[in-house]
Amino acid sequence: MTFYMDVPEEQLRKERAKARELRKTSWWKNRIAEGRCYYCGEHFPPKELTLDHVVPLVRGGKTTKGNCVAACKACNSKKKDLLPSEWEEYLQTLSHKDHE
Ligand SMILES: [Zn+2]
Repeated sequence: MTFYMDVPEEQLRKERAKARELRKTSWWKNRIAEGRCYYCGEHFPPKELTLDHVVPLVRGGKTTKGNCVAACKACNSKKKDLLPSEWEEYLQTLSHKDHE
């Protein structure tokens, strides 16, 4: 069973606005300058990295430095609204492939 929190639209709007601001900070620019996806660990050009909320906003996550990571587009679109624990299961299938 998947538990979805009832996050008010107002809160989502506020957190998304904060994310837009966070993308302009030197903190974020340093993150993407490293060019590494937080999830798969692959290297990408900074422009291909997106800001991902570890705990998605729709699941009650906030736009804080601790909850925002640089993710490649592939990981970001696969992760979507999964919580870290749900996403962990997906990552494990990835590492399985590496050992095949
Ligand atoms: Zn990735």
